Amino acid sequence: MEKRNVIIIGSGPAGLTAAIYTARANLEPLLIEGFQAGGQLMITTEVENYPGFKEGINGPDLMAEFRAQAERFGTEFITADVTAVELSADKKIVRVDDDAYEADAVIVSTGATANLLGLENESRLMGRGVSACATCDGFFFKDKVICVIGGGDSAMEEATYLTRFASKVYIIHRRDQFRASKIMVKKAVENPKIEFILDSVPEDVLGEERVSGVKLKNKKTGAVSELTVDGMFVAIGHTPNTALFAGQLDTDEKGYIITKKGSNTQSATNIPGVFACGDVQDSLYRQAITAAGSGCVAAIDTERYLETLHD
Ligand code: NAP
Repeated sequence: MEKRNVIIIGSGPAGLTAAIYTARANLEPLLIEGFQAGGQLMITTEVENYPGFKEGINGPDLMAEFRAQAERFGTEFITADVTAVELSADKKIVRVDDDAYEADAVIVSTGATANLLGLENESRLMGRGVSACATCDGFFFKDKVICVIGGGDSAMEEATYLTRFASKVYIIHRRDQFRASKIMVKKAVENPKIEFILDSVPEDVLGEERVSGVKLKNKKTGAVSELTVDGMFVAIGHTPNTALFAGQLDTDEKGYIITKKGSNTQSATNIPGVFACGDVQDSLYRQAITAAGSGCVAAIDTERYLETLHD
């Protein structure tokens, strides 16, 4: 079995930053990047809030820069999905089909996936009017009409945020009761640019090259209507990619890995030698820059852990 100091699972901003730092610390990391490498930024067109890129950069281009930087310092990559892990013993085992790798430390950075409605045209128009991230894409909707799908805090927060840019924001929610906190709903209700469409779900996203509208179905009356919008923001929650670690790593009730935030090993999980960073352990901030920052934290925690092992 191949033996490594550290194996990193996942190749978004968190995993690649952990790779850059552990590689520069001569830990010769192995990064298993997944078949769909690069994480959520791979479906983002323009990134304008990542520091250091004054003019903005495409999500996939940014991830290519991250990857090249990790490679430059000797990170080894495997483009495949991890199929199983055994983390509890001192020697951690990571399997990719029939191949097994052994490591003293593992960094988990498998990210989270934005939940989508599951409509065919929603994925076709992703990045062309459909978005799952208001802070990433809101700026591109200056003086446009948009809709936000969802009735939770994210939907309220994103709709309120989007009124900075948009001329009008519809919140489309499938019920007439909100999961969101009262204060967030109140803020949205009081915003003159926001209008609510309740008991309704999008049945289709309209538009050839870009979003031109949504087809809505009223769940109570069954009535179908078309709403003209330039963009649709889906805010129906995220799912952390933690299925691989079920029964091994402690997670919160939503499935996010619990890390020891506030301690002096902030990325530590319940298993010594296993660290987590990025969106897989963060349901709150979910930004590329915060993920990258936490990847650096995980790398430093790993470096210190490996030092104590060797002492
Ligand atoms: P959430 O609380 O799970 O809300 C998801 C919303 O999407 C719900 O209203 C749900 O409707 C709706 N939904 C789910 N699947 C749908 C579907 N297939 N079609 C249509 N609608 C669908 O998720 P979230 O808003 O992302 O919030 C996640 C967590 O982060 C929460 O704990 C939240 O409090 C927290 N958060 C806090 C803040 C803040 O305090 N500033 C901001 C953002 C998020 P139903 O209600 O009918 O189930």
